[in-house]
Amino acid sequence: MSETSPKLRAELEGIPTYKPGKPAATGGPVAYKLSSNENPYPPLPGVLERVAAASATFNRYPDMACTELMNELAERFGVPVSHLATGTGSVGVAQQLLQATSGPGDEVIYAWRSFEAYPIITQISGARSVRVPLTPGDVHDLDAMADAITDRTRLIFVCNPNNPTGTVVRRAELERFLDRVPSDVLVVLDEAYREFIRDTEVPDGVELYRERPNVCVLRTFSKAYGLAGLRVGFAIAHEPVAAALRKTAVPFGVSQFAQDAAVASLRAEDELLGRVGSLVCERTRVVDALRAQGWTVPETQANFVWLRLGEQTVAFAQACEQHGVVVRPFPGEGVRVTVGETEANDIFLKVAEAFHKEL
Ligand SMILES: *Cc1c(COP(=O)(O)O)cnc(C)c1O
Repeated sequence: MSETSPKLRAELEGIPTYKPGKPAATGGPVAYKLSSNENPYPPLPGVLERVAAASATFNRYPDMACTELMNELAERFGVPVSHLATGTGSVGVAQQLLQATSGPGDEVIYAWRSFEAYPIITQISGARSVRVPLTPGDVHDLDAMADAITDRTRLIFVCNPNNPTGTVVRRAELERFLDRVPSDVLVVLDEAYREFIRDTEVPDGVELYRERPNVCVLRTFSKAYGLAGLRVGFAIAHEPVAAALRKTAVPFGVSQFAQDAAVASLRAEDELLGRVGSLVCERTRVVDALRAQGWTVPETQANFVWLRLGEQTVAFAQACEQHGVVVRPFPGEGVRVTVGETEANDIFLKVAEAFHKEL
Protein backbone atom coordinates (compact mmCIF):
# COMPACT_ATOMS: atom_id res chain seq x y z
CA MET A 1 0.00 0.00 0.00
CA SER A 2 1.22 3.47 -0.80
CA GLU A 3 1.96 5.84 2.04
CA THR A 4 0.65 8.98 0.38
CA SER A 5 -2.46 10.56 1.82
CA PRO A 6 -5.45 11.70 -0.22
CA LYS A 7 -4.78 14.92 -2.10
CA LEU A 8 -6.40 17.90 -0.45
CA ARG A 9 -6.86 21.37 -1.90
CA ALA A 10 -3.85 23.58 -1.24
CA GLU A 11 -6.22 26.38 -0.16
CA LEU A 12 -6.94 24.51 3.06
CA GLU A 13 -3.40 24.93 4.32
CA GLY A 14 -3.09 27.49 7.06
CA ILE A 15 -6.81 28.12 7.46
CA PRO A 16 -7.34 29.53 10.93
CA THR A 17 -9.76 27.30 12.79
CA TYR A 18 -12.92 28.97 14.04
CA LYS A 19 -12.52 29.51 17.75
CA PRO A 20 -15.78 28.93 19.52
CA GLY A 21 -16.29 31.03 22.64
CA LYS A 22 -14.89 29.11 25.55
CA PRO A 23 -17.56 27.28 27.51
CA ALA A 24 -18.22 28.40 31.06
CA ALA A 25 -16.10 26.44 33.52
CA THR A 26 -17.84 23.63 35.32
CA GLY A 27 -17.20 22.77 38.93
CA GLY A 28 -16.43 26.33 40.04
CA PRO A 29 -18.74 28.31 42.31
CA VAL A 30 -20.23 30.42 39.49
CA ALA A 31 -19.60 30.18 35.81
CA TYR A 32 -21.03 32.43 33.15
CA LYS A 33 -20.30 32.32 29.45
CA LEU A 34 -19.88 35.81 28.02
CA SER A 35 -17.74 34.62 25.13
CA SER A 36 -20.10 33.84 22.24
CA ASN A 37 -22.68 36.65 22.16
CA GLU A 38 -25.42 34.18 22.96
CA ASN A 39 -28.79 35.13 24.37
CA PRO A 40 -28.76 34.42 28.11
CA TYR A 41 -32.51 33.79 28.27
CA PRO A 42 -33.67 30.17 28.02
CA PRO A 43 -36.00 29.17 25.17
CA LEU A 44 -39.60 30.37 25.48
CA PRO A 45 -42.03 27.63 26.58
CA GLY A 46 -44.02 27.93 23.34
CA VAL A 47 -40.87 27.52 21.25
CA LEU A 48 -39.79 24.51 23.29
CA GLU A 49 -43.20 22.96 22.74
CA ARG A 50 -42.92 23.27 18.97
CA VAL A 51 -39.47 21.71 19.03
CA ALA A 52 -40.71 18.89 21.24
CA ALA A 53 -43.58 18.28 18.81
CA ALA A 54 -41.15 18.16 15.88
CA SER A 55 -39.15 15.46 17.61
CA ALA A 56 -41.97 12.97 16.99
CA THR A 57 -41.10 12.95 13.27
CA PHE A 58 -37.34 13.07 13.12
CA ASN A 59 -37.23 9.80 11.23
CA ARG A 60 -38.28 12.01 8.29
CA TYR A 61 -36.24 14.61 6.44
CA PRO A 62 -37.19 18.21 7.12
CA ASP A 63 -39.13 20.31 4.61
CA MET A 64 -36.32 21.12 2.19
CA ALA A 65 -37.97 24.32 0.97
CA CYS A 66 -38.58 25.58 4.55
CA THR A 67 -42.03 26.52 3.29
CA GLU A 68 -43.66 27.75 6.48
CA LEU A 69 -40.60 29.75 7.54
CA MET A 70 -40.14 31.26 4.09
CA ASN A 71 -43.79 32.36 3.98
CA GLU A 72 -43.53 33.87 7.43
CA LEU A 73 -40.34 35.77 6.50
CA ALA A 74 -41.76 36.92 3.17
CA GLU A 75 -44.74 38.45 4.91
CA ARG A 76 -42.74 40.01 7.70
CA PHE A 77 -40.20 41.72 5.44
CA GLY A 78 -42.47 42.39 2.50
CA VAL A 79 -40.27 40.48 0.06
CA PRO A 80 -41.09 37.72 -2.41
CA VAL A 81 -40.23 34.17 -1.35
CA SER A 82 -37.94 34.04 -4.38
CA HIS A 83 -35.76 36.67 -2.69
CA LEU A 84 -35.24 34.54 0.43
CA ALA A 85 -32.82 31.74 1.24
CA THR A 86 -32.30 29.92 4.51
CA GLY A 87 -29.19 28.15 5.72
CA THR A 88 -27.44 26.54 8.66
CA GLY A 89 -26.99 29.79 10.54
CA SER A 90 -26.09 32.96 8.70
CA VAL A 91 -22.51 31.73 8.64
CA GLY A 92 -23.76 28.82 6.55
CA VAL A 93 -25.46 31.28 4.20
CA ALA A 94 -22.30 33.42 4.05
CA GLN A 95 -20.30 30.38 3.02
CA GLN A 96 -22.84 29.65 0.28
CA LEU A 97 -22.48 33.24 -0.92
CA LEU A 98 -18.75 32.72 -1.31
CA GLN A 99 -19.28 29.42 -3.10
CA ALA A 100 -21.63 31.19 -5.44
CA THR A 101 -19.42 34.19 -6.19
CA SER A 102 -15.75 33.61 -5.49
CA GLY A 103 -12.92 31.27 -6.29
CA PRO A 104 -9.16 31.28 -6.95
CA GLY A 105 -8.04 34.60 -8.43
CA ASP A 106 -10.95 36.51 -6.93
CA GLU A 107 -10.88 38.96 -4.05
CA VAL A 108 -13.14 39.37 -1.04
CA ILE A 109 -13.02 42.61 0.93
CA TYR A 110 -13.89 42.99 4.58
CA ALA A 111 -12.95 45.20 7.49
CA TRP A 112 -10.44 43.99 10.04
CA ARG A 113 -10.85 43.24 12.80
CA SER A 114 -14.28 41.91 12.04
CA PHE A 115 -16.12 38.61 12.26
CA GLU A 116 -13.61 35.78 12.41
CA ALA A 117 -15.62 33.54 10.08
CA TYR A 118 -14.87 35.85 7.09
CA PRO A 119 -11.20 34.90 6.63
CA ILE A 120 -11.98 31.23 7.11
CA ILE A 121 -14.79 30.92 4.59
CA THR A 122 -12.94 33.17 2.13
CA GLN A 123 -9.85 31.00 2.25
CA ILE A 124 -11.91 27.83 1.82
CA SER A 125 -13.36 29.33 -1.37
CA GLY A 126 -9.86 29.85 -2.75
CA ALA A 127 -10.36 33.60 -3.08
CA ARG A 128 -7.98 36.13 -1.57
CA SER A 129 -8.90 38.12 1.53
CA VAL A 130 -8.43 41.88 1.29
CA ARG A 131 -8.59 43.21 4.84
CA VAL A 132 -9.18 46.91 5.34
CA PRO A 133 -8.24 48.14 8.83
CA LEU A 134 -10.92 49.71 11.00
CA THR A 135 -10.54 53.43 11.68
CA PRO A 136 -8.77 54.43 14.93
CA GLY A 137 -12.28 54.61 16.43
CA ASP A 138 -12.85 50.94 15.55
CA VAL A 139 -15.41 51.70 12.81
CA HIS A 140 -15.52 50.34 9.23
CA ASP A 141 -13.45 52.59 6.96
CA LEU A 142 -15.88 52.52 4.05
CA ASP A 143 -13.89 54.96 1.91
CA ALA A 144 -10.81 52.76 2.17
CA MET A 145 -12.94 49.69 1.46
CA ALA A 146 -14.30 51.29 -1.71
CA ASP A 147 -10.74 52.25 -2.69
CA ALA A 148 -9.73 48.58 -2.29
CA ILE A 149 -12.14 47.39 -5.01
CA THR A 150 -10.43 45.98 -8.12
CA ASP A 151 -11.52 44.07 -11.22
CA ARG A 152 -11.13 40.92 -9.15
CA THR A 153 -13.41 41.91 -6.30
CA ARG A 154 -16.44 39.64 -6.11
CA LEU A 155 -17.86 40.15 -2.64
CA ILE A 156 -17.63 42.72 0.18
CA PHE A 157 -18.75 42.05 3.75
CA VAL A 158 -20.05 44.94 5.82
CA CYS A 159 -20.66 43.77 9.37
CA ASN A 160 -23.15 46.18 10.92
CA PRO A 161 -22.84 46.35 13.89
CA ASN A 162 -19.31 45.06 13.69
CA ASN A 163 -18.29 41.97 15.61
CA PRO A 164 -16.21 42.31 17.86
CA THR A 165 -16.23 46.11 18.28
CA GLY A 166 -20.01 46.72 18.30
CA THR A 167 -19.59 49.85 16.18
CA VAL A 168 -21.95 50.80 13.34
CA VAL A 169 -21.93 52.54 10.01
CA ARG A 170 -24.78 54.98 9.44
CA ARG A 171 -27.14 55.64 6.56
CA ALA A 172 -25.40 58.45 4.70
CA GLU A 173 -21.94 56.87 4.72
CA LEU A 174 -23.28 53.43 3.82
CA GLU A 175 -25.30 54.81 0.91
CA ARG A 176 -22.30 56.78 -0.31
CA PHE A 177 -20.26 53.58 -0.18
CA LEU A 178 -22.90 51.52 -2.01
CA ASP A 179 -23.00 54.20 -4.73
CA ARG A 180 -19.31 53.61 -5.31
CA VAL A 181 -19.48 49.80 -5.54
CA PRO A 182 -19.80 48.49 -9.11
CA SER A 183 -23.13 46.78 -9.70
CA ASP A 184 -21.46 43.43 -10.44
CA VAL A 185 -19.86 43.22 -6.98
CA LEU A 186 -22.00 41.69 -4.25
CA VAL A 187 -22.24 43.64 -0.98
CA VAL A 188 -23.24 41.47 1.97
CA LEU A 189 -24.71 43.41 4.89
CA ASP A 190 -24.22 41.09 7.85
CA GLU A 191 -26.87 42.19 10.33
CA ALA A 192 -26.59 39.44 12.93
CA TYR A 193 -27.25 41.99 15.71
CA ARG A 194 -29.85 44.12 13.94
CA GLU A 195 -32.45 43.81 16.73
CA PHE A 196 -30.06 45.34 19.28
CA ILE A 197 -29.60 48.59 17.34
CA ARG A 198 -31.08 51.71 18.93
CA ASP A 199 -29.23 54.32 16.85
CA THR A 200 -31.90 55.56 14.43
CA GLU A 201 -29.25 56.67 11.92
CA VAL A 202 -28.32 53.06 11.23
CA PRO A 203 -30.23 51.95 8.14
CA ASP A 204 -32.18 48.72 7.95
CA GLY A 205 -30.33 46.70 5.32
CA VAL A 206 -33.65 45.48 3.96
CA GLU A 207 -34.45 49.05 2.88
CA LEU A 208 -31.12 49.28 1.06
CA TYR A 209 -31.60 45.93 -0.63
CA ARG A 210 -34.89 46.99 -2.23
CA GLU A 211 -33.31 49.48 -4.61
CA ARG A 212 -30.00 47.71 -5.10
CA PRO A 213 -29.74 44.34 -6.85
CA ASN A 214 -26.16 43.83 -5.65
CA VAL A 215 -27.02 44.07 -1.94
CA CYS A 216 -27.68 40.96 0.13
CA VAL A 217 -28.80 41.11 3.76
CA LEU A 218 -27.86 38.36 6.23
CA ARG A 219 -29.91 37.78 9.35
CA THR A 220 -29.85 35.07 11.99
CA PHE A 221 -32.04 33.51 14.65
CA SER A 222 -28.97 32.84 16.80
CA LYS A 223 -28.72 36.08 18.73
CA ALA A 224 -31.85 38.12 19.48
CA TYR A 225 -34.13 35.12 18.93
CA GLY A 226 -32.05 32.81 21.11
CA LEU A 227 -31.80 29.84 18.74
CA ALA A 228 -28.00 29.59 18.41
CA GLY A 229 -28.01 25.85 19.04
CA LEU A 230 -30.51 25.12 16.26
CA ARG A 231 -28.55 26.68 13.36
CA VAL A 232 -30.84 28.77 11.22
CA GLY A 233 -30.23 32.02 9.41
CA PHE A 234 -31.36 33.57 6.17
CA ALA A 235 -30.54 35.95 3.36
CA ILE A 236 -32.66 38.51 1.57
CA ALA A 237 -31.35 39.14 -1.93
CA HIS A 238 -32.53 39.71 -5.46
CA GLU A 239 -32.45 37.09 -8.14
CA PRO A 240 -30.11 35.66 -9.26
CA VAL A 241 -28.27 35.80 -5.90
CA ALA A 242 -31.09 34.19 -3.94
CA ALA A 243 -31.39 31.49 -6.59
CA ALA A 244 -27.66 30.82 -6.34
CA LEU A 245 -28.10 30.39 -2.61
CA ARG A 246 -30.74 27.78 -3.14
CA LYS A 247 -28.37 25.96 -5.52
CA THR A 248 -25.47 25.92 -3.08
CA ALA A 249 -27.51 24.88 -0.04
CA VAL A 250 -26.72 21.62 1.70
CA PRO A 251 -29.84 19.55 1.04
CA PHE A 252 -32.04 19.42 4.15
CA GLY A 253 -29.47 21.50 6.03
CA VAL A 254 -32.01 23.35 8.17
CA SER A 255 -33.61 20.84 10.54
CA GLN A 256 -37.33 20.71 11.21
CA PHE A 257 -36.57 21.71 14.80
CA ALA A 258 -34.85 24.85 13.55
CA GLN A 259 -37.61 25.67 11.07
CA ASP A 260 -40.40 25.21 13.58
CA ALA A 261 -38.56 27.06 16.34
CA ALA A 262 -37.87 29.96 13.97
CA VAL A 263 -41.55 30.20 12.98
CA ALA A 264 -42.64 30.03 16.62
CA SER A 265 -40.08 32.70 17.52
CA LEU A 266 -41.31 35.07 14.83
CA ARG A 267 -44.83 34.63 16.19
CA ALA A 268 -43.57 35.30 19.74
CA GLU A 269 -41.60 38.28 18.59
CA ASP A 270 -43.08 40.76 21.07
CA GLU A 271 -41.89 38.70 23.98
CA LEU A 272 -38.48 38.04 22.44
CA LEU A 273 -37.93 41.67 21.53
CA GLY A 274 -38.89 42.56 25.10
CA ARG A 275 -35.96 40.45 26.22
CA VAL A 276 -33.77 42.24 23.71
CA GLY A 277 -34.94 45.51 25.25
CA SER A 278 -33.82 44.31 28.68
CA LEU A 279 -30.43 43.34 27.28
CA VAL A 280 -30.11 46.78 25.68
CA CYS A 281 -30.77 48.34 29.11
CA GLU A 282 -28.09 46.11 30.57
CA ARG A 283 -25.77 47.18 27.77
CA THR A 284 -26.26 50.82 28.71
CA ARG A 285 -25.62 50.03 32.35
CA VAL A 286 -22.43 48.09 31.53
CA VAL A 287 -21.04 50.72 29.16
CA ASP A 288 -21.81 53.59 31.57
CA ALA A 289 -20.18 51.72 34.45
CA LEU A 290 -17.06 50.93 32.40
CA ARG A 291 -16.70 54.56 31.35
CA ALA A 292 -17.15 55.70 34.94
CA GLN A 293 -14.29 53.35 35.84
CA GLY A 294 -12.14 55.14 33.28
CA TRP A 295 -12.30 52.74 30.34
CA THR A 296 -12.54 53.88 26.75
CA VAL A 297 -15.43 51.89 25.28
CA PRO A 298 -16.49 52.30 21.65
CA GLU A 299 -20.22 53.00 21.19
CA THR A 300 -21.78 49.55 20.86
CA GLN A 301 -25.08 48.75 19.16
CA ALA A 302 -24.77 44.99 19.66
CA ASN A 303 -25.08 42.65 22.65
CA PHE A 304 -21.40 42.92 23.55
CA VAL A 305 -18.72 45.45 24.45
CA TRP A 306 -15.16 45.79 23.22
CA LEU A 307 -12.22 46.67 25.40
CA ARG A 308 -9.04 47.43 23.49
CA LEU A 309 -6.58 45.98 25.98
CA GLY A 310 -3.61 45.34 23.69
CA GLU A 311 -0.90 43.44 25.53
CA GLN A 312 -3.12 43.19 28.63
CA THR A 313 -5.78 41.19 26.78
CA VAL A 314 -4.90 37.72 27.97
CA ALA A 315 -4.27 38.81 31.56
CA PHE A 316 -7.68 40.47 31.63
CA ALA A 317 -9.41 37.38 30.25
CA GLN A 318 -7.69 35.25 32.87
CA ALA A 319 -8.77 37.59 35.65
CA CYS A 320 -12.37 37.35 34.44
CA GLU A 321 -12.19 33.58 34.35
CA GLN A 322 -10.81 33.40 37.86
CA HIS A 323 -13.89 35.24 39.02
CA GLY A 324 -16.35 33.06 37.14
CA VAL A 325 -17.00 34.76 33.79
CA VAL A 326 -15.56 33.60 30.50
CA VAL A 327 -14.94 36.35 27.93
CA ARG A 328 -13.50 36.30 24.41
CA PRO A 329 -9.89 37.48 24.13
CA PHE A 330 -8.27 38.41 20.82
CA PRO A 331 -4.65 38.27 22.03
CA GLY A 332 -2.71 41.48 21.48
CA GLU A 333 -5.87 43.36 20.51
CA GLY A 334 -8.74 43.31 22.94
CA VAL A 335 -11.53 41.50 24.70
CA ARG A 336 -15.11 41.09 23.58
CA VAL A 337 -17.59 40.65 26.39
CA THR A 338 -21.18 39.62 25.82
CA VAL A 339 -23.90 41.42 27.76
CA GLY A 340 -25.43 38.52 29.66
CA GLU A 341 -27.23 37.83 32.91
CA THR A 342 -27.16 40.74 35.38
CA GLU A 343 -25.10 38.67 37.86
CA ALA A 344 -22.56 37.86 35.15
CA ASN A 345 -22.33 41.49 34.06
CA ASP A 346 -21.78 42.52 37.68
CA ILE A 347 -18.87 40.11 38.06
CA PHE A 348 -17.33 41.37 34.83
CA LEU A 349 -17.70 44.99 35.99
CA LYS A 350 -16.02 44.19 39.31
CA VAL A 351 -13.07 42.56 37.57
CA ALA A 352 -12.84 45.47 35.13
CA GLU A 353 -12.82 48.00 37.96
CA ALA A 354 -10.02 46.26 39.84
CA PHE A 355 -8.06 45.71 36.62
CA HIS A 356 -8.30 49.35 35.54
CA LYS A 357 -6.87 50.52 38.85
CA GLU A 358 -3.78 48.41 38.18
CA LEU A 359 -3.22 49.72 34.64
C1 LIG B 1 -23.11 35.44 15.45
C2 LIG B 1 -22.86 36.03 14.13
C3 LIG B 1 -23.46 35.50 12.99
C4 LIG B 1 -24.48 34.43 13.07
O1 LIG B 1 -24.02 33.20 13.15
P1 LIG B 1 -25.01 31.96 12.94
O2 LIG B 1 -24.27 31.12 11.99
O3 LIG B 1 -26.28 32.46 12.36
O4 LIG B 1 -25.18 31.39 14.29
C5 LIG B 1 -23.23 36.09 11.77
N1 LIG B 1 -22.44 37.16 11.68
C6 LIG B 1 -21.87 37.71 12.74
C7 LIG B 1 -21.05 38.92 12.58
C8 LIG B 1 -22.04 37.15 13.99
O5 LIG B 1 -21.44 37.69 15.04
